[in-house]
Amino acid sequence: MRKPKGNHYLLVVLDSCRYDTLVAARPKVLRRLGRVERRWSYASWTSPSHFNLLTGLMPHASPRHVLTSDYYQHEFAKFNPRLGVENFDFRAMLPRLYLPPVLRRMGWSTHAMVSMPVLNPATVLNSGFDTYKLMDRHNDLRAMVRRLEFPSTERRFYLLNTGETHYPYALPHEPEDSWPRLSGVHGVLGHLEGQAVGGKLRRRTPFTAKQLGEMRDRQVEAVRYLDTVIEELFDLVPNNTFVTVTSDHGELFGEEGYFGHGPIQHDKVFEVPFVEGKIR
Ligand SMILES: [Zn+2]
Repeated sequence: MRKPKGNHYLLVVLDSCRYDTLVAARPKVLRRLGRVERRWSYASWTSPSHFNLLTGLMPHASPRHVLTSDYYQHEFAKFNPRLGVENFDFRAMLPRLYLPPVLRRMGWSTHAMVSMPVLNPATVLNSGFDTYKLMDRHNDLRAMVRRLEFPSTERRFYLLNTGETHYPYALPHEPEDSWPRLSGVHGVLGHLEGQAVGGKLRRRTPFTAKQLGEMRDRQVEAVRYLDTVIEELFDLVPNNTFVTVTSDHGELFGEEGYFGHGPIQHDKVFEVPFVEGKIR
């Protein structure tokens, strides 16, 4: 069989990871993709943000003095280097405006591994995917890396959503009884898969500055850890692979009385890291 043209494309979402968290972690491996940009998510929580990513719109650069339609065209054109094709533009997305079925029509096989129950396979997000899996644990990118396959006869698109950077900022080897437990924070989706992954404020106040600082430090540590898993990912993928790493939204660690993400109007819930390229 003739080897298909184009790149494998990986879209990796570090759930809730703030831009300044990622910068503070100084990830060496991740920067092999290119310069880490400060961008802004279109949404403040997981579900609409992933929908937006899957319409092909990455976090935006908040450009001034341009028409949004021109900016969208400019953004869709970036799928040419991502996919290793030519002449991909907004029209390729019509009429569904959703990347997985478009990629499948273009000959890619499409796969998702997600960690957050709000992204589970029964949601509308699972459209046009050949496989779509909610992982057993909310915080184990390494388990996803171990499941990646790149057959030489196919080009693959993978969406990977991982939650080491999500509240409670826990690494997979860390026992649950050592995770931070904050009164006032509750897993809004705890009934799904038995995982408490919400992290919203029930009411203003309850945390001390020390607790909030410790949680920010835990998110920085999570990025340092993820950088080592990303190294394993980079060792695994074939040369013709393009990788985008970003976040779906930021996180608040006490600024103006906010904690977490979701129903929050604050710059830090929209500010996210963005880096992409082929591995150098
Ligand atoms: Zn999220």
